Amino acid sequence: MQEKLPFLEFMRDVSGREIFSSSADHPLKTYFEEIHTCQKCELGKTRNYFVFGAGNPDADILFVGEAPGEQEDKSGVPFVGRAGKLLDKVLVEVGISRKDVFIANVLKCRPPKNRDPLPEEIALCENYLHRQIELIKPNVIVALGRIAANTLLRGSNALKDMRGITYTYHHTDLRVTYHPAAILRNMSRYDILKDDMEKIVEKYS
Ligand code: URA
Repeated sequence: MQEKLPFLEFMRDVSGREIFSSSADHPLKTYFEEIHTCQKCELGKTRNYFVFGAGNPDADILFVGEAPGEQEDKSGVPFVGRAGKLLDKVLVEVGISRKDVFIANVLKCRPPKNRDPLPEEIALCENYLHRQIELIKPNVIVALGRIAANTLLRGSNALKDMRGITYTYHHTDLRVTYHPAAILRNMSRYDILKDDMEKIVEKYS
């Protein structure tokens, strides 16, 4: 069941609130129209929705997770499950909200059983992220979690060693912090995530 959501519908969160906070004619919308039927890899056959990303197409901050999970695949919107709720909470606590930022993933389609992205899937999908960066022109990209960070940076580092460092990815500053799902597994790290977010928001928005 591969159904296309109209872009503005697609940019609603699970409660129906519109989260695409700019003109419907933004080039990012045109780009979504161009790529949302992608069948370049096998994930195109098993997905429900191509999860393009959501938020402000002119955002200062672009968050990048790993890949859509079950809830995201069912709704077409990134970070809508429990991890997404935690992301929403920390954003509000540092003075911004989901509608101010743009949230996307390295892979646009859900890998079966949430397995890690395969190198060939990344190779085929990463150009979509590059174009999103060119169209959104964020001041900073925030990689959420070790897998997203190491995928983008072609590294194999521990998350704790990447926090607080400013990297460059596709001509843009890139910072790394915990994936909200990792915080759900160990809530004692919530304040570290919040501290990272505070510093990022202060410097880049
Ligand atoms: N985890 C991710 O990395 N991305 C999502 O969209 C949801 C959960």
